[in-house]
Amino acid sequence: MAEKVIIIGSGPAAWTAAIYAARAALEPLVFEGAITEENRLAGTLPLGQLALTTEVENYPGFPAGDLRGYLETALPPETLAMLPPHEAHGVTGPILMELMRQQAKNFGTRVITEDIVEVDFQRHPFQLRASDGKTYESLAVIVATGARANYLGLPSEERFKNRGVSACAVCDGALPRFRNQPLVVVGGGDSAVEEATYLTKFASKVYMVHRRDQLRASKIMAERAMKNPKIELLWNRVLEEVLGDDQRGVTGVRLASTVGQAPLELEAAGVFLAIGHTPNTKFLQGQVELTEKGYIRWTTPFRTHTSLEGVFAAGDVADDYYRQAVTAAGSGCMAALDAERWLAAKGFH
Ligand code: NAP
Repeated sequence: MAEKVIIIGSGPAAWTAAIYAARAALEPLVFEGAITEENRLAGTLPLGQLALTTEVENYPGFPAGDLRGYLETALPPETLAMLPPHEAHGVTGPILMELMRQQAKNFGTRVITEDIVEVDFQRHPFQLRASDGKTYESLAVIVATGARANYLGLPSEERFKNRGVSACAVCDGALPRFRNQPLVVVGGGDSAVEEATYLTKFASKVYMVHRRDQLRASKIMAERAMKNPKIELLWNRVLEEVLGDDQRGVTGVRLASTVGQAPLELEAAGVFLAIGHTPNTKFLQGQVELTEKGYIRWTTPFRTHTSLEGVFAAGDVADDYYRQAVTAAGSGCMAALDAERWLAAKGFH
């Protein structure tokens, strides 16, 4: 028998959609993604981008405090044992995700730790093939597979992730390790300018490293970067290596020149990559309309409907603009309500 709703993904959008769908008696089935080396390298393991971060200080409801007692009662001991040590400074990304997942399960959500690798949305009930080789059927689908930040792929970048290397200034910029320190932002688009500008609130100085001699960012944003006395633009440079050690994390960068100049070494406590994101939409194989940038297109203003009736999208897979845990969670809630109403209108529920 077909499921009422299948949710694909396991970030804040997916779990919030599951919580709402479960409470609406839709008995959601979540495909949270498979735990594979391929997914680890791509940054698409279960629990999404938040599982790759450390402290989360801007998710409402989680002020700084000691959550230990609560976690011990809320999570199974084997899950708790796998989480990073919890210090008394609010919630971390991995813990927030485990709590959301558990909350969804508490309301009866079923979770399968596999990827959806192929879909057939031309047939209804929709057909979804999972990485376990099985095919599942569903009357409605919520796609919440998120996006992954692009990295350059340097081994040193990988080594210092969460210890000075980040792809999200808004998430990590206010951490103590970056306060009053020189920081590096890589990229020349609007995100890079926005991240650099944001980081000037905390940093002693921000170097923007761009591979060309002209920013891609819009004029107004580019001017903002150039006028900011704390931002120094380094043109025609690419990040060659992140420097650091196991004890301190990032201590600097080595930059190569794209125009034949000598390499440049700089002291820095952090490196922020702002070279774009890639939404996780490959498995859709073009069956749902995407924007020019490859994100799922929301076809109705303030709704999570996609170009296909019965298929809804939530979170970063459809949003290249806000990209916050709380906005993803909000749109996950919207997708569950949209799916429920659609199923009811069709007489399925
Ligand atoms: P983007 O516009 O695609 O810019 C990516 C930047 O990263 C480019 O400068 C690019 O260099 C550089 N880059 C890409 N791959 C690289 C590599 N391998 N090595 C070195 N540099 C590399 O991405 P974005 O800045 O994230 O912006 C995405 C979209 O969101 C844009 O449409 C943007 O306007 C929008 N946005 C708007 C705002 C705002 O209005 N407040 C804020 C953020 C984002 P090249 O220039 O040489 O290609």
